[in-house]
Amino acid sequence: MNDGADHIAERKMQFLFALRSRGVTDARVLTAMERIDRGPFVRGYFAERAYEDMPLPIACGQTISQPSVVGLMTQALKVTPRDKVLEVGTGSGYQAAILSQLARRVYTVDRHRRLVREASEIFAALDLTNIIALTADGSFGLPEQAPFDRIIVTAAAEDPPGPLLAQLKIGGIMVVPVGQSDAVQHLIRVTRHETGYEYDELRPVRFVPLVEGLGRDG
Ligand code: SAH
Repeated sequence: MNDGADHIAERKMQFLFALRSRGVTDARVLTAMERIDRGPFVRGYFAERAYEDMPLPIACGQTISQPSVVGLMTQALKVTPRDKVLEVGTGSGYQAAILSQLARRVYTVDRHRRLVREASEIFAALDLTNIIALTADGSFGLPEQAPFDRIIVTAAAEDPPGPLLAQLKIGGIMVVPVGQSDAVQHLIRVTRHETGYEYDELRPVRFVPLVEGLGRDG
């Protein structure tokens, strides 16, 4: 007999199994994804699908990314406990919450004020005190807090935005989906060396576009 709690525990186990089978193998990333429940980040109609390895709709016409993609991007970012990280595209806040387990401090920005407000409420409820969420056009980065050890962009740009490249520390890493929104995009990892930037193409992905300016809600 399956009571509710058993059912959720079972679904969470399947969730972690799906992550591993899709290539999320880094132990620290898996532990972070075990600790941070995706449930609270998916509200309303789709809440019961929170443990499926699928992107789901959230407010403002945006999406919470597919968990295995969150895992693979986090793994590619090679976050260390001393890192100051910038995320462009807060969305539901799920990716930022995972990063908060691995980094010293996470700045996350979204162009929609409502998404920033709702994500901040979840961070407070979960006591994730090392995340600072702000409403801003992240294509310009966050100059007041730059430079960053790590930058993750969770919306697709046609090219890695120049201001973000400039705000990466020497030795820093940025992960960004690159390509047009209606075509195949590729996840790119950019490593900044003293002599320049090194680009690795990781895998095809599909993200909502990086849009300039603030959303109409704020
Ligand atoms: N990381 C999120 C998913 C993000 S969806 C999660 O874990 O749920 C992409 C987000 O990027 C959307 O919320 C969208 O509003 C935001 N976005 C798009 N263009 C942006 C820009 N120029 N600056 C900041 N946020 C932007």
